[in-house]
Amino acid sequence: MTPPLTTIDGQPLQRLGLGTWRLGESAPDEDRDVAAVHTALCLGYRVIDTAEMYGEGGAERVVGRALRQAAADGVRREQVYVVSKFYPHHAGADALPRACQRSLERLGLQQIDLYLLHWRGDVPLAETVHGLRALQRRGSIRHWGVSNFDVGDMEELYAVPGGAGCAANQIYCSLGERGPEHALLPWLAGRGVLTMAYSPVDQGALTGHAELAALARPLGLTPAQLALAWVMRNDGVMAIPKASREVHQRENLQAAAVRLDAGTCQALDRLFPPPRRKTPLAML
Ligand code: NAP
Repeated sequence: MTPPLTTIDGQPLQRLGLGTWRLGESAPDEDRDVAAVHTALCLGYRVIDTAEMYGEGGAERVVGRALRQAAADGVRREQVYVVSKFYPHHAGADALPRACQRSLERLGLQQIDLYLLHWRGDVPLAETVHGLRALQRRGSIRHWGVSNFDVGDMEELYAVPGGAGCAANQIYCSLGERGPEHALLPWLAGRGVLTMAYSPVDQGALTGHAELAALARPLGLTPAQLALAWVMRNDGVMAIPKASREVHQRENLQAAAVRLDAGTCQALDRLFPPPRRKTPLAML
């Protein structure tokens, strides 16, 4: 079992983090994007998810600038859990340390808290795990994990030396995409691997869902809050919605405190039926 993840200063990870896909994609908008992440940090977000792919490094630069701005407001680096991801074509012995170094420079950090293989490519898993453990020993990363890995991929990962050191699997998981519930979520939970649910409001689609809104209203929730509370209903699953608007950031953060009763979960099952059999893991 992997021990529960914490920030550098020893705090348990918040169940609700901030996604950054689509940030840092254009230079003219960079200040606006930095302000969005800075606002989130000042509101209390303590897990930030990014990737070298987002804006080809632009999102990591945005996160780095926002972290420095937030430090001036009293948000210490040790309080924030920074997640980044590397391309599958950077997963080999030579490319991986170089990719990590570039990410560290863009983020302006000495260490990435969690470094994920963004999706599976052609590099043998044993080689990637070997490289990740070397980065861990060097102190460039604290934890490592994967993204878009289905059960079969996880089993292959666990079969390579050190593979069971995987701390997290970041996957598409939402009311609209319930496939992982059948086999993958129990597999990860059984081994203490953190599930990070990406696109948890289906890239905004759930926020305008009329029937979801009708169910959320009497509970005093917005559709986004209900969708997020549902994703986070099980221990070991966190959600990383991307929200650049402050009103959305506030709304989503509040969802972490919402507990759903059995009747609401059953009503959601009728609206968004759970999978009856194993389906291939969906990926965006
Ligand atoms: P998402 O978080 O499901 O949806 C983001 C969209 O929803 C944005 O347009 C946002 O608007 C809107 N939104 C958020 N909260 C809202 C609210 N309370 N009310 C109304 N609208 C709201 O989709 P995502 O960005 O695809 O996924 C989240 C994060 O997961 C990404 O940013 C990325 O970090 C990660 N991800 C990882 C992978 C992977 O392969 N590992 C793939 C996809 C995503 P505003 O921005 O205007 O506030």
